[in-house]
Amino acid sequence: MLDKVDMLAKAPADRMPREIAPGVFWTGDCLVQRHKSKIYHGYNAAFLVAGETASCLVETGHPKDFPVIERHMNELFAQGVPPLKYLFVTHQETPHCGGLGRVLKTHPNAILCGDVSDYHLAFPQYEHRMQWMKEGDEIDLGGRTLMMVEPVIRDLRTTWWGFDTRERVLFPGDGFAYSHYHEDGHCGLVAEEAVSLDLPDVSSTFADLALFWTKFADMNVYCDRLDQLIERLGVKTIAPTHGLPITDVKVTVPKVQQGLKAAALIPESGTNEKVPLAGASAATPAV
Ligand SMILES: [Zn+2]
Ligand SMILES: [Zn+2]
Repeated sequence: MLDKVDMLAKAPADRMPREIAPGVFWTGDCLVQRHKSKIYHGYNAAFLVAGETASCLVETGHPKDFPVIERHMNELFAQGVPPLKYLFVTHQETPHCGGLGRVLKTHPNAILCGDVSDYHLAFPQYEHRMQWMKEGDEIDLGGRTLMMVEPVIRDLRTTWWGFDTRERVLFPGDGFAYSHYHEDGHCGLVAEEAVSLDLPDVSSTFADLALFWTKFADMNVYCDRLDQLIERLGVKTIAPTHGLPITDVKVTVPKVQQGLKAAALIPESGTNEKVPLAGASAATPAV
């Protein structure tokens, strides 16, 4: 595994795929997001978990990321990572499952697992390759398993989180979601390396834009539940779909929780920055 100094010396484009824990590879590309006149970067990441006999892809990335994720996976397979046997997506939303059909087509032996509601409607040709899983169920990759665990921060009713039982890596989908600063060179860094990143602020912004229900819930209860899950599972690394990976759980998780609690206290600001159209004028009411 590359150490911190090697990674910081690399150009951001050369940092991926990145091994964030033994046999767990971060793949994908950034997405530009404009908000309050600032340019943020976010990830719609996919993670390849390599066992001794099989690999599992966690999430598929946004459709625009598929060529990059496929290239990253092929690099890893060429280095001897076992073939893809499973695809697990946390829920049915485009940044998480937008490459699902292409992954199943490219890897004809791969099985889709998790809550597989409705996927057969879009892909009836792959219905026989869909495997239902619920909390506590595991898939065997050889020497390690991927287990379904409680989705504390869930975007859809069908959400599950994944957990690698060997290296104790949590895959929380939309949990621990936050953007990063491209100008500061944060792309491809883990949260603890991105020292100039204001984690409470970017976590709060993401919750404000994408997790509107946090406005109407007591986030102290959710944060306590997150702490309990992390403690119960003995989580060592967190691999969020949208945030930078967390490698120091004790130090970094409280900063993200601070953002979630702060976002809950401010009114929702809407999901898109309003850009005035050139030449637009106020509409005149019909009389
Ligand atoms: Zn998401
Ligand atoms: Zn970036």
